[in-house]
Amino acid sequence: MSSETINFTDLGLSPELLKALTDSGYTTPTPIQAQAIPVVLNGHDLMAGAQTGTGKTAAFSLPLLQKLIPFANSGASPARHPIRALVLTPTRELAIQVEESIKTYAKYTSLRSLVVFGGVDIKTQTPQLMRGVEILVATPGRLLDHVEQRTLRLDQVQMLILDEADRMLDMGFMPDLKRILLLLPKVRQNLMFSATFSNEIKKLSESFLTNPILIEVARSNATSDNVSQKVYHVHQEDKHVLLTQLLSGNDAKQVIVFTKTKLTASRLAKHLTKDGISADAIHGDKSQTERMQALDAFKQGKVSVLVATDVAARGLDIDQLPMVINYEISSSPEDYVHRIGRTGRAGASGIAISLVSPEEEKYLVEIEKLIKRKLDVEVAEIPERESQTRTRTKSTSTKVADSTKPHPRKKKNPEDEWFDKPYEPSGSTNDAEVMKMTHKNKPKGEVAALLGGLNPRN
Ligand code: AMP
Repeated sequence: MSSETINFTDLGLSPELLKALTDSGYTTPTPIQAQAIPVVLNGHDLMAGAQTGTGKTAAFSLPLLQKLIPFANSGASPARHPIRALVLTPTRELAIQVEESIKTYAKYTSLRSLVVFGGVDIKTQTPQLMRGVEILVATPGRLLDHVEQRTLRLDQVQMLILDEADRMLDMGFMPDLKRILLLLPKVRQNLMFSATFSNEIKKLSESFLTNPILIEVARSNATSDNVSQKVYHVHQEDKHVLLTQLLSGNDAKQVIVFTKTKLTASRLAKHLTKDGISADAIHGDKSQTERMQALDAFKQGKVSVLVATDVAARGLDIDQLPMVINYEISSSPEDYVHRIGRTGRAGASGIAISLVSPEEEKYLVEIEKLIKRKLDVEVAEIPERESQTRTRTKSTSTKVADSTKPHPRKKKNPEDEWFDKPYEPSGSTNDAEVMKMTHKNKPKGEVAALLGGLNPRN
């Protein structure tokens, strides 16, 4: 049976869940939902290759809830509400989004859910945990904090869901995951979701899943066909001008701009604001409240540009995002796939533009290798800067890029040199990405600590 002919009513979901789906406006399951829901309901372990935007959250949340409905009860005793399903996510934002979805789908049941993540006072999470919840969504570090503080028990977990497993590994959560696995009952159902399939992910799935059913909704490591992907070859110092041009286009009403470091993200958002473009930055140095406020403002259209680092943007659920711009291309080709997964969701079309400097060419090669296609090259017209018009008299504009002459200018604009500087930690270093850049040979566990992974807890 193809996914087009399947309705939610064919999937064996209870009336409570179907009603919630109708309220959400969902009419038909997405391909990952149509394939994964029966597998999970049958009790199999699952290895699913699905990017954000495919409907993967409901693909595990709906069968999870369905399986827990027999345990739903309105009793007041915490003992009647043990944690039966544990969902682990790499970032706080994703954790929040996943739990919001679960709450939405569970609203006509008496199942309880809760999200716990680092970066906020642990004490605020304890009372709700102590009352008992059947479904807990957590980032690994904060979960272990609660285990240590004996504010939760994991000995009745029947289902474990690892969301965005590839990102968990990238962020150094493996030691935490191993610790968590030891705390769970041996007999349980395991579901793993990953946008990309590296050898490491395959290894993890072998150790963590038992006879899993493999489902892939898109070719692994492929990027969505709905997304038109373009590259501008441009010098670092010209990126700001080009970005401003791109952001003033008609397609650019809501754009996420990616940078490699949180410092560049902050600085760029400020520059854009000065240019009259409403922009905000979202990165690991901002408090949880600030990040959520920035995201809300963006979602409501009060801010049209969100400048984000990979870590902060991971898992952001923003509907109908038409454009993503890589101000700095990622050194990890997998991150490119994740970044452009922000657009072209649920069948909508999207544009992903990458500004690639000569120094970043090597990363582009890796990306094209991973996605098995060449990206279209666009040519930008960059107006001459004052410093150059003083030395050049002929033209008023310079072609900065085409596929044959990719980088015609070598001169640096002193104004933008800041962007090329390596990041210097300022004391508040709770961002893994920065740690990766500045302490490349530190053990990964320490990176996890900075993201809420290990002690000291964030
Ligand atoms: P996800 O891949 O889980 O992040 O979901 C991407 C977006 O698709 C979210 O905004 C969901 O609310 C939405 N969505 C999930 N399932 C469906 C469905 N069956 N029909 C329509 N929208 C959906």
